[in-house]
Amino acid sequence: MSIIDVRPTAPELHDHATEPTPQTYRAAVVHEFRTPMTIEQVSRRTLETGQVLVKVEATGLCHTDIHAAHGDWPVKPTPPFVPGHEGVGIVVERGAAVTEVAVGDRVAMPWLGYACGACDYCVSGWETLCLAQKNMGYSIDGTFGEYAVAYGRMVVKVPEGVDPFDAAPLTCAGVTTYKAVKVAGTRSSNLVAVFGVGGLGHLAIQYAAIAGGRVVAVDIHEEKLELARELGAEFTVNAATEDPIEAIQKLGGAHQAIALAVAPKAFEQAYASLRRGGTLVFVALPADNEVKLPIFETVLNGITVVGSIVGTRADLREVFALHAAGKTTVIRETRSLADVNEAIADVEAGRVAARIVLEP
Ligand code: NAD
Ligand code: ZN
Ligand code: ZN
Repeated sequence: MSIIDVRPTAPELHDHATEPTPQTYRAAVVHEFRTPMTIEQVSRRTLETGQVLVKVEATGLCHTDIHAAHGDWPVKPTPPFVPGHEGVGIVVERGAAVTEVAVGDRVAMPWLGYACGACDYCVSGWETLCLAQKNMGYSIDGTFGEYAVAYGRMVVKVPEGVDPFDAAPLTCAGVTTYKAVKVAGTRSSNLVAVFGVGGLGHLAIQYAAIAGGRVVAVDIHEEKLELARELGAEFTVNAATEDPIEAIQKLGGAHQAIALAVAPKAFEQAYASLRRGGTLVFVALPADNEVKLPIFETVLNGITVVGSIVGTRADLREVFALHAAGKTTVIRETRSLADVNEAIADVEAGRVAARIVLEP
């Protein structure tokens, strides 16, 4: 009888690419809220145990990065910091005790930059709720640079055949909306109202359809609604010219509504577009942190309101697998990282088809 050797191979203390990595590299830095980022040389940090150095190939511009740079939320990042949490690149160096990835692997660096791995949340599939979590581009430096430092345990390998410029938006916009559709509980033939057809929304439409839902997409820009139809939305409503509540109630009311528009009013409309027993999923995080919802109707109509924050590493693997199988389309345009401030202005003005991906 043979004994199978199950001992893990001893992690090397430190390994790195043959090509030496520079001591400084270019990154976009927020020095003060609501002032443009500066592109500057930053010093690379010594890798701590468990960390990897990644040469960034592509990094998506999520609206969250804009909120971060503006200091929009109750919990704020501390300047100076480097935003970015849709980063994709190649591992060029490993710190001590990294066993999950090797030098040369292509990895995605998501918002959930670190989770403890041991708390009740972490061990029950809710690592996204870990109280010890660190967030890329927010509480730790992110991926708006030529290089980024991440935790080997938290990065997700990008499968062969997935373009890094597609993988970048999938790393936050993709996984977040994929999870939001799971949380919504969409089943075949459900009417799903997607409010906001931006970076997140254009993918939410596709995941809702994959789950079997029939999609009604709502935005305030006509081009976004055109795109929504191309991506599988059966119905569209321009909230700038038409009342989305009335339009969606005419369709029978939504079984689920997903709030992705950066406007509290859209949350209230999403709520009122539900049918009895419906579920509203909060995803967008507008600076104006309040919505007004009625108690009586919520009780009498049996409404569920639920918040959804990004997704787990397992969710991201599923997102990548769906994309590798040709089930999703990422709509994106590439810009230079040096143009990040113009890119932000374009996102805020609604001039972007869906997602901008920055190239360092
Ligand atoms: P985006 O700017 O790309 O998209 C927002 C879309 O909403 C745009 O298409 C815009 O035209 C549309 N819109 C604006 N006002 C509207 C209105 N009144 N009615 C309908 N549509 C309207 O932003 P994004 O990157 O998709 O991010 C959306 C939000 O989600 C941001 O607040 C972001 O911080 C948040 N977010 C949350 C999570 C999470 O885990 N919960 C993850 C990522 C992003
Ligand atoms: Zn994001
Ligand atoms: Zn934890």
